[in-house]
Amino acid sequence: MYQPTIGLEIHAELKTKTKMFCGCLNDPDEKHPNINICPICLGHPGTLPTINQEAVEAVLKLGLALNSIISKISKFDRKSYFYPDLPKGYQISQYEEPLVRGGKLKGIRIRRIHLEEDTGRLLHADDGQFSLVDFNRAGVPLMELVTEPDIKNSEEAVEFAKEFQQICRYLKISDADMEKGEMRVEVNISLREIADQRRLDTQINADNIRENQRNHLRESAFWGTKVEIKNLNSFKVVEESIDYEIKRQSEILEKGEMVKQETRGWDDNKKKTVSQRSKEEAQDYRYFPEPDLPPLNIPAIFNLKKMKQELPELPEAKRRRFNKNYGFDKKSVEILVEDKMLADYFEEATSELKAFNPQTNYQLLLNYFTSDLRGLMKEKNISLESLKIKPEHFAHLVYLAEKGNLSSRLIKDLLAKMAETGEDPETLIKEQKIGLINDDDQLLAVIKRIIQENKKAVEDYKKGKENALQFLIGQAMEKTRGQGKPDKLKTLFKKELS
Ligand SMILES: [Zn+2]
Repeated sequence: MYQPTIGLEIHAELKTKTKMFCGCLNDPDEKHPNINICPICLGHPGTLPTINQEAVEAVLKLGLALNSIISKISKFDRKSYFYPDLPKGYQISQYEEPLVRGGKLKGIRIRRIHLEEDTGRLLHADDGQFSLVDFNRAGVPLMELVTEPDIKNSEEAVEFAKEFQQICRYLKISDADMEKGEMRVEVNISLREIADQRRLDTQINADNIRENQRNHLRESAFWGTKVEIKNLNSFKVVEESIDYEIKRQSEILEKGEMVKQETRGWDDNKKKTVSQRSKEEAQDYRYFPEPDLPPLNIPAIFNLKKMKQELPELPEAKRRRFNKNYGFDKKSVEILVEDKMLADYFEEATSELKAFNPQTNYQLLLNYFTSDLRGLMKEKNISLESLKIKPEHFAHLVYLAEKGNLSSRLIKDLLAKMAETGEDPETLIKEQKIGLINDDDQLLAVIKRIIQENKKAVEDYKKGKENALQFLIGQAMEKTRGQGKPDKLKTLFKKELS
């Protein structure tokens, strides 16, 4: 039996107004190449970078959210990097003094979070004759989070990455959309025998051991050989590549062979990891302090205490509160918490509904929210923001539904009309833009036609089959688009058929 040891490195592009070290717009939607560029992000000689405080603040917010240690002094370094997508010949990053160290998420310890700059994009011609480069993305603030190797399997890894994404969105520091490349995951994975794990744990947890010895043990050969899987761009691929790599490395070790230390990539067609380059020795980036940027004195620039107080409620706290306050099951809570905007809307609607009906239990609100309202968003392919339905109007509709005299068909129609007009459901009903047909004559006309058209059902009913009556009422509901009250239709049918 082999125990996987997994660590993650997650990159996320920050959604600041401008780039990391210059005043160029940070606009991921810009389609025209080389628009948002200047001598600084093009690396012209003699230009000087300046630190984007909004980007620093974003990383600090995440650090505070994860209960990490915020560095008093943080520094930037140059990392050797020679590739045409970053014209300076180096990347400004952070090495010895990252902004953030420590902290925890989903039980996984965070090693560090630091800031660096993103690269441009290369486009290679199909015939391989030339490549084009777009520097719009060069110099965009990029945050990198590194975990300790606390992760045991693909499930934990995906759970961690998803939670990271949600927190970035809650903090509004990054959209972290993996499809758009705004969030990229790298996996470090090694396997070792479980017997070794126990021995190592005993050694590490011994009392009479110095801290540097402890660290050395942690890093020692007991971990097994580390393989890096780079550029994973969906949660599914993170899961698949880890599962594949556990299987691949186990098979090598079973045979008594050594796992090669290397960087691998994911081939999504073949559903396997493939070797990219081997690392005979540790890569030497030749980091050295960035001479053009002064060290950041964080407490002198930021009021961390105030920033901490101003953090929004985070997903985990929200889950617990939603579960406690409303008693919803895990799955429903997750649907609500997934998107902060949905959660806020839902909560506004609950307090409005409470005003209409203090006895409400919110279950009906949840049902209409998760099925009908979200269905409408999907159908129109728009966000909740763009729907014109105000939370209080939505609550009002649910209240009317709770009272039980609106058919589900009518509720659907009302909701669609509300989305169009932004009006209150009661107003819509009153103004007869949509609503119940109270006029008996109008209903009788419909009923007579249905009796004509459904002779068989009428016969069945007369023979005593109650189901037949239900069928006829259903037909009438259909014809009136749900605007006839079922109980009223029943009375009228009975009278007409007696
Ligand atoms: Zn620039």
